[in-house]
Amino acid sequence: MASASESGGSQQPPGKSSGQKSETIEEMVGRLKLTAAESRKIVIDDREESKAPSWALAGRILVPPPKVYHINTICAALRPAWGNPKGLIFIDGGPNMFVAELASERDKDRIWERSPWTVNKHAVVLEDYQSCRRPSELKFDRLLIWVRILDLPRNMINTNWGMKIAADVGNEVVKVDTSNKYSGQYLRARVFIDVNEPLRRWVAIDSTLREACDWYELQYEDLPYFCFSCGLLGHSATLCLNPAERDENDEWPYGSRLRAADDIKFKAPPMAGGSSFTGYQHRGGMANAQTGNRGSMRLVVRRIHRQPVAVGVDARLVREADILIRCTVS
Ligand SMILES: [Zn+2]
Repeated sequence: MASASESGGSQQPPGKSSGQKSETIEEMVGRLKLTAAESRKIVIDDREESKAPSWALAGRILVPPPKVYHINTICAALRPAWGNPKGLIFIDGGPNMFVAELASERDKDRIWERSPWTVNKHAVVLEDYQSCRRPSELKFDRLLIWVRILDLPRNMINTNWGMKIAADVGNEVVKVDTSNKYSGQYLRARVFIDVNEPLRRWVAIDSTLREACDWYELQYEDLPYFCFSCGLLGHSATLCLNPAERDENDEWPYGSRLRAADDIKFKAPPMAGGSSFTGYQHRGGMANAQTGNRGSMRLVVRRIHRQPVAVGVDARLVREADILIRCTVS
């Protein structure tokens, strides 16, 4: 049976190098004279076998070498974070990679909806996975994340312009959230960003009404570990292979200002029992402060209790479960 474990068990890291190797082999096959045995094809009707499991995700943890997370560590971090869905199985996919088999599409969609995930604050880059995919076809090059475009004029905070602006920021726009139009004056967009490129810090918008081209600051929600020197996810400035110079204020080109103020998300407690989660609601924070907006909404947060955070488990998940939100309009 062609299972995810067979495909995911390769020690060859999927990615650019793998893709190049696969391409080289194809070129080689086309160039060389094959023997009779090599020319013989094996015809396999694997449609029936590929029916189960139908729902799976492949993932890679972005960590600098030689750091390698054991599959048990990955499992210990992500299983409770994902709410321990029924039928979840983690399979070792090579160094810092895994395949997670799920029993239902709903579980998979919920995991996608709450991306990005982390293991010890290192980003988990996910891809939909089918057992018929070759390991070299997995690129792990996109991270689904919420990005905020700050201090936008209200006339730009709508779906039409939001999609256009977000498309410039991310590789692919999933949706935009314009609910902050009158409170925070920033646009939220759910986008895939390229993990092989530095985080975008700004976006330039040339407005006819404003008769000017302005730069707008970007912030990311639940941003995993990234390098303040080069802006890439997955390593620190002290381990950067391409360190940048600090500016006259002795600061790196990238910094914590890329992290959005802590959001309050109206989600179910860590996906327990397969309960569905709802959307998001922001709280007034950094964006309001930066825009100078007096903030039409003020949220009061009170912790009810606090549970110990297990090793490797994202503290964000504990926080989300334990937060009581009371909104007051000021
Ligand atoms: Zn770096």
